[in-house]
Amino acid sequence: MATLKEQQRMADYLGMDISGFQMMYVQRKGDKFFIRNNDQGWCIFFNTGKGCTVHPAKPRTCRAWPFFRGNLMDESSFEMAREYCPGIDPDTDFEEFVRLGVKYLQEHGLGQELEDDAGNALRTSDIA
Ligand code: SF4
Repeated sequence: MATLKEQQRMADYLGMDISGFQMMYVQRKGDKFFIRNNDQGWCIFFNTGKGCTVHPAKPRTCRAWPFFRGNLMDESSFEMAREYCPGIDPDTDFEEFVRLGVKYLQEHGLGQELEDDAGNALRTSDIA
């Protein structure tokens, strides 16, 4: 999901106006906006070899990964993420992951309570 503010930030980064950006990169589902996928089903901004091509302006959910609510609330989701995501220290246990995750989200202003139209993935207000 990408909020209007996040879309504007990415459009600015790419030197585009918001309507052109939305036409090329955004898909609307109901009242929510999503970044389109490419033909392989990956985010349209992902480039093999380069990674994220909008990295400095990427949406909050991307900045928050892997500290999504599901991974912070459910130990088996955390274990799956730890198995597949090379960015998670394989020696980190669930308790430490939650502690670091909540701290990271708070310190970087990524918690949902700070912005109403963000997804549930970043809601941390009820996590220890
Ligand atoms: S971090 Fe990944 S999912 Fe997020 S905008 Fe960049 S390429 Fe897309």
